[in-house]
Parts: sequence; C-alpha cells; structure tokens
Amino acid sequence: MPPFSDTPVFDGHNDVLLRLRRSGKADPAKAFLDGENEGHIDLPRAREGGFAGGLCALYVPSPSYEKDADGNMPTPAQPDALNETMAMARLLFEIERRSAGDVTVCRTAADIRNAIAKGSFAAVFHIEGAEAIGADLDALYVLHQAGLRTLGPVWSRPNIFAFGVPFRFPSSPDIGPGLTDTGKALIRACNDLKIMIDLSHMNEKGFWDIAAISDAPLVASHSNVQALCQHSRNATDRQLDAIGETNGLIGINFGVLFLNKDGIKDPAIGVEPLIDHIDYVANRIGIDHIALGSDFDGTTIATALKDCRGVRLIVDRLKARGYDDAAIAKVTHENWIRVLGATWGA
Ligand SMILES: [Zn+2]
Repeated sequence: MPPFSDTPVFDGHNDVLLRLRRSGKADPAKAFLDGENEGHIDLPRAREGGFAGGLCALYVPSPSYEKDADGNMPTPAQPDALNETMAMARLLFEIERRSAGDVTVCRTAADIRNAIAKGSFAAVFHIEGAEAIGADLDALYVLHQAGLRTLGPVWSRPNIFAFGVPFRFPSSPDIGPGLTDTGKALIRACNDLKIMIDLSHMNEKGFWDIAAISDAPLVASHSNVQALCQHSRNATDRQLDAIGETNGLIGINFGVLFLNKDGIKDPAIGVEPLIDHIDYVANRIGIDHIALGSDFDGTTIATALKDCRGVRLIVDRLKARGYDDAAIAKVTHENWIRVLGATWGA
C-alpha cells in the first residue's frame, strides 16, 4: 500500500471499536476493512482522507443511561467490564490479523512511523475508563503484555481509581474529589510500565493529583479549551500550562458540544471553532503541545467534516490561518508521535 498522505493525520481518540461492537454486525472486522460508509471511520475512508491512525479506545458503556443526582451514569462491574474489554481487544486484533498488513497495532513510536510510511493504519490499544482492572491491578499487567499502551483511568463516571468529570455546561472541571489510594497505585504502575495516562474525562482534583505523582508528560487526548467553551470536559488555562511545562499535549476534540461557546450541540458550526481552539493552545503553550483528538465515532461532529476524510479540511483551514508545513506536521502527527515515544521510552 502507498503511504497515507504527505500530511498524514495521527489522532488521539476514536471510538470505532465501540461503534462496530454496537452495530450488531455478524462480521464487524470485515465492516471496518472493506468499508461500509457508516459512522466516521473505516479503512477505505481512512486511506482516502489520509487518516493514518490513532488511539483506538476500548470503552465499556454504562449498564444503563439512568443518571444519579450528580449526573453520573452507573459504573460497570469489574467482571462485566473485563469481559467486554476482552471482546473489544479481540476485535482490534482480529482487524489487524485479517488486514494482510493494512492495519498495525503499534506498541512503539517506531511502529507508528513504520506503519504510516508503508500505508498501514497505525492503531494504538487504548482503554478509556479502567473498570476492567481490579484493585489488585492484575489485569493492567496482562493487558500491557497484550499491547495496551495508553489508559484513561476514568470515563465521566466514578470508579475505584478516581472520579470522572460529569458533563456540564457552563462549568469548570472542578467537580468532585481527587484520586483514591488505589488510583494513586494505578498511576505509579502506569509509570512503571510506561503506559501513557490520559487526563481527558478526569475531574480537576484528579488532574492535579496525577500531575503531582506522574513522571510522564501530561496528556489530555480529546479535550478542548475552557476559555473558549466553558464545558466541564475542557481544560483550564492552568491545566494547559501544566501540559506545556511537562512537554505533553492536548488533542482537540471535534465534538461540537466541546467547541461551541454557547454549549449547544450544533453540527452547523463549521470548522472554524475547531481551528480557534487549536490556535488558542498554540498561542498559549506553543505549537509543540497541540494535536488532534477527534472523538470520531464517539460524538457529534460538524456536518462540514462529515467523517474521517474531513481532516483534509482541517489541514486546509490551518494553512489558510498561516500555519506553515512544519507547524501543520506537528499538529497532525508529529506531536503525538513525540509524546508517545517519550512516554513509552521507545
Ligand atoms: Zn471520551
């Protein structure tokens, strides 16, 4: 296969595995590999759009949508979450196995570079919400051996490790307490194993607890800017500064809910608000600390982007705003590969 594009996009968050699992299709791996024109990502559209890969989330949905008084959905029980995680991991590896080299589950930064260079979709095994892992952390060690390289301790709900930030607007991310003792042990284990810790969905106290403990760059894989959209999922200026100071990054989420200053889910907002969030981070903490975290197949995106091929529009708009080729390469893939390589030590 030819390389993806002269400006490949490596992205910080997608939920394609969740979409495929939920689709009820008899052969979801085939649907991804052959393409089906549903949702945001499949392999033919990724190739067409130069969408070269990214962090593929294994996320276990809540057992019901009924929210408690704090606005949290219920947390899955650990055995159920582990079962579902196994099923999603199997799907990821089945996609790789049946792709004849067109999809690679990457474990090092070199794997990512090599995959993109030969036109193989570069997937990273990511867990969003660590409910599958018990307090003994046994599953963390086994999942790491299987290829797990990045982990968000929480989705937007509480678990034994920490308190995910509920979805609120307008609201700061400062909702609820910080890490539990088990959560602190999880962070230390991730540092030992060189698993990237993802701060998206963490509340503010949890963020600062991790900043105090972790020896890795601080990363929010799919979050936006509080100063432009006062959603609880978005980062404050202080959080952005900490991300910059640790040589980390923030991946801008394409979800209209996290972009729109009015907090309205409006798919007609176009592409410019997304570029505004990129611009804000680049101006505040520098071009080395801003990247993409689309949330494809996990959120409502601007109609103008349509699906993963829409990343070409983002590249065009960055050029129109005066970003040169080197800056665009950083935003679209270089920053992610640098930060992952620094965290993984390879
Ligand atoms: Zn998410």
